[in-house]
Amino acid sequence: MSDTKYDVVVIGAGPGGYPAAIRCAQRGAKVAIVEKENVGGTCLNWGCIPTKALLASTELIAKAREAEEFGVKITGIEPDWTAIQARKQKVTDTLVGGILQLLKANGIDLVAGAASISADKNVAVKTADGDVTLEADKVIIATGSDPAELPTFDFSQPSVMTSTDALALDHVPKSLIIVGSGVIGSEFACIFSTLGTEIVMLELMDRMLPTEDSRVAKQMRSTFRKQGIDIRTETTVEEVLEYRDDGIKVKLSSGDELEAEKLLVSIGRRFNSAGLGLEELGVEMDERGRIVVDQAMETSVDGIYACGDVVGGILLAHTATFEGLVAAENATGGHATMQYHVVPACIFTTPEIGSVGLNADKAAEQGIEVNVSRFSFGALGKAMAMGEDYGFVQLVINAKNDQVLGAQIMGPHASDLVHEVAMAMHMKATAEDIAATIHAHPSLPEAIMEAAEAAHGKAIHVAPPRKK
Ligand code: FAD
Repeated sequence: MSDTKYDVVVIGAGPGGYPAAIRCAQRGAKVAIVEKENVGGTCLNWGCIPTKALLASTELIAKAREAEEFGVKITGIEPDWTAIQARKQKVTDTLVGGILQLLKANGIDLVAGAASISADKNVAVKTADGDVTLEADKVIIATGSDPAELPTFDFSQPSVMTSTDALALDHVPKSLIIVGSGVIGSEFACIFSTLGTEIVMLELMDRMLPTEDSRVAKQMRSTFRKQGIDIRTETTVEEVLEYRDDGIKVKLSSGDELEAEKLLVSIGRRFNSAGLGLEELGVEMDERGRIVVDQAMETSVDGIYACGDVVGGILLAHTATFEGLVAAENATGGHATMQYHVVPACIFTTPEIGSVGLNADKAAEQGIEVNVSRFSFGALGKAMAMGEDYGFVQLVINAKNDQVLGAQIMGPHASDLVHEVAMAMHMKATAEDIAATIHAHPSLPEAIMEAAEAAHGKAIHVAPPRKK
């Protein structure tokens, strides 16, 4: 570093921070980004990408096991965990390398160390070579989140894992208790059940995936059961009876006792706002440590912005990025505001889930009268040809003006398909607009077109109601 005076200093180089730094540089600002661990943050190192790399391997294993149905004989299918992990690491390392290059190409100084903000709004960094002060005109906080821990469990025990620990396992556990049936717990259940791990999933609420649409959650539960995953709802761990080097024994709220080699706690995230000096600066936070921001992603203190998981709300990488870009525009003299009504959210289970906007329950809460129109992948040629004819597309349509307000998709490539609906919503399109768009045959998006047609009783591949 030749100079320690910057227009913008970004703290945290995850999917919130590094795009914010690049956008500031693109807008002509002199920028530094501080990172205490790995560039790429949770997403690239301990979240989105490593889980999807593992899922790519386990989905291939599952497909290979079904090969005979497709007229292909494959013998000796043998998962090699060490090789699966090595591939995952290679994918991660390549992406992290790409970000390092992008930061450099944009003239951004990367400072390795833990940052905090001083009373004069400069950024103090504890580096391996001592303390450094970066003079900052504006600061963007993008410090993300860490796995939340439960006091019931001693995380120093080898049998107790966070999602970060689960990604670093050196072998496939024989048995696994997953506490929490949300997105992360469900993705790990898919990974390890394909690899032969015996899984019991515990959920405090009355259904798995409690934040998802109820129809999606119900069908997912039956799919998980078929995959051999034992899901126990309205159940949690009351106490740990025994920690061993090779396992754990717990007592459940149902009174049952359960033993497993490992236990994964996936109950949510803890916001990384402590130790940044925010209380001293008067930056407003809520009781859980989420930083409060306005639509410009500015905190209660002028010139200090925040984005990503640390501001709470929708804890997803692409939300973090969009928030970071809004913060960057505003920190460099622009005028941008953050909008949240079209944020696709995907769960990479088998089958996948993709959702965007409102579901019927949320529409009812907001007093909006909607039509819910569905089309099943079981009636779709492409899904059948792929051997993935399960699940459905569900469109939520404003009953007054036909505008598409949301979608829930469960089935093959749901995480890709949901973007057609997201774009339609962004363009304020109606179900009629989607139905009037010629979709290629045979393709999975035809299911979206058919669901839109069904809203007007015009779907060709849905039988009309029987005449009495
Ligand atoms: P983070 O990615 O957490 O990055 C924050 C960075 O700040 C970290 O690198 C941290 O080291 C650094 N930092 C913290 N404090 C300091 C400090 N004081 N000084 C310097 N540096 C600091 N989201 C999706 O959209 N799709 C998915 O498929 C998906 N899968 C996931 C799977 C798992 C297992 C997990 C755990 C999460 C997943 N997520 C997924 C969520 C996604 O990873 C997060 O929403 C996203 O990473 C948040 O980005 P962020 O930049 O706000 O924070």
